[in-house]
Amino acid sequence: MQLTFLGTGTGLPTRGRAPSGLLARIGDACLLFDSGSGTTERLLAHGVEPTQLDYLYYTHLHSDHTADLVPLLQAMDLSRRSRDLHLTAPAAFWPFLDGLLALQPWARPATYQLRRYTAELDPYCGPTWSVSAAPTHHMPGSHGYRIEAEGKVVAISGDAAPCPDLVALARGADLLVLECSFPDELAKPDHLTPSQAAHIAAAAGVGHLVLTHFYPSCREPAVRAQAARAFAGPLTLARDGMVLAV
Ligand SMILES: [Zn+2]
Ligand SMILES: [Zn+2]
Repeated sequence: MQLTFLGTGTGLPTRGRAPSGLLARIGDACLLFDSGSGTTERLLAHGVEPTQLDYLYYTHLHSDHTADLVPLLQAMDLSRRSRDLHLTAPAAFWPFLDGLLALQPWARPATYQLRRYTAELDPYCGPTWSVSAAPTHHMPGSHGYRIEAEGKVVAISGDAAPCPDLVALARGADLLVLECSFPDELAKPDHLTPSQAAHIAAAAGVGHLVLTHFYPSCREPAVRAQAARAFAGPLTLARDGMVLAV
């Protein structure tokens, strides 16, 4: 499995950190987790034709994770796509998606089937991978995902608040990608700090912790120091364009 961090920023993007997007490659399959603004172009920069994506997973509704969904669907339609598109998202996502498509009918699937899978019930599992989901308590319905493929386990939080569900989602994972919005001294109830993320990683017994989703107040040396106090294993601070093999 290979992970490409397309965007490691937030709703307050900076020059070096675009809003959220994470590509997971499993063999020939490309799975996209969230699509903040600019994800479509960044996929192209990494050699992935957005209209060729077959598997989309969304963690929650916020714009820094969803802004490129409609452009992506419009491109799929304009390319006269015929293959099914498999979209997994929390139940709260469906009225949101229906609303977007009602306002922007040009993005409605006309030439292909958009198949919906609800994270709480039946996240899409492919021929060579399985996916499960757990609530992340960031906003109503927000979910993180656990992917098992090629004998490895990767867990991805999306945005999250500190909660036991995250520990369960990440239990024993080879690699855990956690959001880390604010440094310890600016903690907020609906996001994680470096210390909180590190405690989750330690409690879950993960092999490697990757932090992402940094607001501008996150300074790398401080984030690293705060996280390293609670998690002794390998720690990586994601950057836009970073590629990791698992
Ligand atoms: Zn976010
Ligand atoms: Zn959010």
